[in-house]
Amino acid sequence: MALSGLEIYKLLPKTNCRECGFPTCLAFALALAKKAVALEKCPSVSPAAKEALQAQSQPPIRLVLLGDDKNKIEIGNETAMFRHEEKFHHPAAIGFVIEDSLSNEEIKQRLDKINKLQFERVGQLLRTDLIAISQTNDAERFVEAVNLVSTLVNFGMVLISNDASALAIVLKSLAGRRPLIYAATDKNLAEFSRLAKEHNAPLAISFESMDSLSELTKKANQAGVPDVVIAVNTGRHNSQVIWELTQLRRQALKKANRSLGFPLITVASGLGSYDEVVKAGDYIAKYSGIILLEGFKEWAVLALLTLRQNIYTDPQKPLQIEAKLYPIGNTTEASPVLVTTNFSLTYYTVLGEVEASKVPSNILSVNTEGMSVLTAWAAEKFTPDKITEGLKKSGAEEKVKHRNLIIPGYVAVISGELEEKSGWKIIVGPKEAAGIPSFLKNLG
Ligand code: SF4
Repeated sequence: MALSGLEIYKLLPKTNCRECGFPTCLAFALALAKKAVALEKCPSVSPAAKEALQAQSQPPIRLVLLGDDKNKIEIGNETAMFRHEEKFHHPAAIGFVIEDSLSNEEIKQRLDKINKLQFERVGQLLRTDLIAISQTNDAERFVEAVNLVSTLVNFGMVLISNDASALAIVLKSLAGRRPLIYAATDKNLAEFSRLAKEHNAPLAISFESMDSLSELTKKANQAGVPDVVIAVNTGRHNSQVIWELTQLRRQALKKANRSLGFPLITVASGLGSYDEVVKAGDYIAKYSGIILLEGFKEWAVLALLTLRQNIYTDPQKPLQIEAKLYPIGNTTEASPVLVTTNFSLTYYTVLGEVEASKVPSNILSVNTEGMSVLTAWAAEKFTPDKITEGLKKSGAEEKVKHRNLIIPGYVAVISGELEEKSGWKIIVGPKEAAGIPSFLKNLG
């Protein structure tokens, strides 16, 4: 069982020396109990206390690394059951399964498509992270396919095989890339653990029941494999899969069950269908660290990457863009100026509609600390004073000759005061961004 803050406090030096960055030993103990700080931050812990606290200081779900230094993928190290309790820090890795039964040409074409599969959303680049090569043939073909993939892309890799001799060969050629071995069973655990240890690779373990899983992870750890990933069987009704994913997370986070405190991996098969996309979405939300997709559909991947971005964005820290004047298209001194906030989602929504209008325009983004229009207005962050300041700082007054400012329709109420303070003529724009194209076209 995890120690409480007070139990941890009893083991600390109680000098309140502040070297850990906390004002008191009690504050440090409470943070340690929540796994919000590392024990190493206190330089004065006695060896005996250190030993007692060592387990406590480990994250309840182990941090597992895949990939090389340049393309590092971190999964696990989760401390909160639900995002509203804190934030999910390590986004689920998403990857594609490629079978070695494909020809080399087909593999190259698939990789080319995957490489190009990148989307920009609210200023962030969204892309997948992993390629899993699945052995369906003899060892020779598997080795050839893995080598082909590893030379063509620098994604993290998962090796799906139950052939230890084939794995031994590819693990040697992938030295330094830390591929995930998928997956050991109770029958081959000793052999796969030896491979994982020898090549410093993480090991996925599949299982029949949670009791047997505990034994398997303990054996892998005892065999010198600390980096374990739990492979959940998704070939069942989705409600059973979600139940198991949830139980495993509860065991790790709520029951401090160390033998189940590892990230999870799932495979969503047949991604062509809507049903399978929903399943993959379920695994991202609850609580898979790696999701492998057997199908390849751009629309499905975009939906899943967007879902991941939403889940792993900290709601306490809204995505923001730099507050300034953004010229869109070939603007001139006569181009319209629209004002909005610096909340990324708001800005990019307005940007999309301005681009769709094909009317070159300027968007003035005002610093509202990442709040949307109505929230910022209610919080007095999108006020006539702030907008006037934004107009001056952005250089908008030099950029255009006219003095017409288009404001969002929802804040029409500030028109009079803003006109007075800024000296600009205020034009009330549409309430919804979707109305911007026709509004700009009819501006005259
Ligand atoms: S560094 Fe250690 S002894 Fe000093 S205040 Fe922090 S917990 Fe206490």
